[in-house]
Amino acid sequence: MTASIKTNPSCADPWDADSKTVAQALDLIEASTPRLQDSEQLPIRDSLGRISSESVISTINVPGHANSAMDGFAIAGSSIPTHGIAEFTEIGTAYAGKTFDGGCGKNECVRIMTGAVVPEGTDTVIMQEQAEQSGNQFVRIGSGHRAGDNVRAAGEDIKQGETVLQPGSKINPADLGILASLGIGTINVIRKPVVAFFSTGDELVSIDKPLQKGEIYDSNRYTLHGMLSQLEVEIIDMGVIRDEPEAIRAGLLEASRKADLIITTGGVSVGEADYIKSVLEEIGQTEFWKIAIKPGRPLTFGSIGNCIFIGLPGNPVAVMVTFSLFVARAIRKLAGAPPTAILLLKVRSLQDMRKKPGRSEYLRGIASKGEDNEWQVEKTGMQGSGILSSMTRANCFIVLPAENDGVKIGDLVDIQLFEHM
Ligand code: AMP
Ligand code: MG
Repeated sequence: MTASIKTNPSCADPWDADSKTVAQALDLIEASTPRLQDSEQLPIRDSLGRISSESVISTINVPGHANSAMDGFAIAGSSIPTHGIAEFTEIGTAYAGKTFDGGCGKNECVRIMTGAVVPEGTDTVIMQEQAEQSGNQFVRIGSGHRAGDNVRAAGEDIKQGETVLQPGSKINPADLGILASLGIGTINVIRKPVVAFFSTGDELVSIDKPLQKGEIYDSNRYTLHGMLSQLEVEIIDMGVIRDEPEAIRAGLLEASRKADLIITTGGVSVGEADYIKSVLEEIGQTEFWKIAIKPGRPLTFGSIGNCIFIGLPGNPVAVMVTFSLFVARAIRKLAGAPPTAILLLKVRSLQDMRKKPGRSEYLRGIASKGEDNEWQVEKTGMQGSGILSSMTRANCFIVLPAENDGVKIGDLVDIQLFEHM
């Protein structure tokens, strides 16, 4: 007779039925996270990276008038010679910001600078390099030019009545330029989401105290501070909270009064001191608590009142992986931005990688350009979810989908570059 013990699903298993897939978890976060409604008006420079809450419609044409794209001579297209050379009388000069106010007849031309309004009677600019000045007053132009050459039409960039910014779009440097080119000085954006976070764990010590045996410094709060600082959010750092249900309850209730999103790290597993999930069930709602991902399997998502709650695992690498996927998605939604597909690139693997089908895996990789100019990737070394140094050496995640059953050297694998997260 063989003896056996009854086991439960664990992170040693490739798959368990309670887990959400990464895609399901992202969809649930998207569906359950509210869009913030309040907006604030900002000078356009301060709106960079924020989400517009209004649509901006142009009240003018940009450019406002047809103007020259070159330094040269403005003429009527109808006076371009079909063959041979034609001579024009130069009757004045048009500068950018200083128009030539007279009209221009046939066989006349106006010296014109880039950006200057095209004078009445002209619709074509001949580059100065393609014209010959004869004496003081005369310019000779050959055939081969086309009417309309080197003239920018009024409204060719932006037409009056055109929508230049949609609600929900993230304001980038080009948008600032567009708004400025319309003479718009302020813009309404969604207010910044307020994110409160704390670490849980009796072993955690602040960095200004000496370590006793079994204690570790709280690094997650610093990693989180770094990742949150790269997003447009207000940050409330609530410190470390001990593994006591009372303390966790008080911490979560306080956070829920101040924030739109609460993030905790640690205490979401199935250990004796993991209280996050049970406290959340008491004071709020749990939507899911396991994702088929490695690292990052125990992740609790839910809400306390109007506040969204994401309980990240304690392991430092799991914190970074799950933040980049799930917290980032919740913050985007709060701020009113539509979900964007994560940019993955396919590159050649420099090594074999063992994997069982069941969970998506996020390995830490170094992507580089090979001698053949093709991009390639290798792991940073040990991949345990507590090995934060595997993150500092990495410049990308190697993303192996749930169904993947291992990688052979030379296979193409997906990578997610950190620079683009
Ligand atoms: P837990 O999810 O609470 O079981 O924690 C998993 C692992 O992550 C344990 O080894 C913890 O000591 C470690 N850990 C938890 N929180 C932190 C933190 N804030 N900084 C560094 N390591 C942590
Ligand atoms: Mg813990």
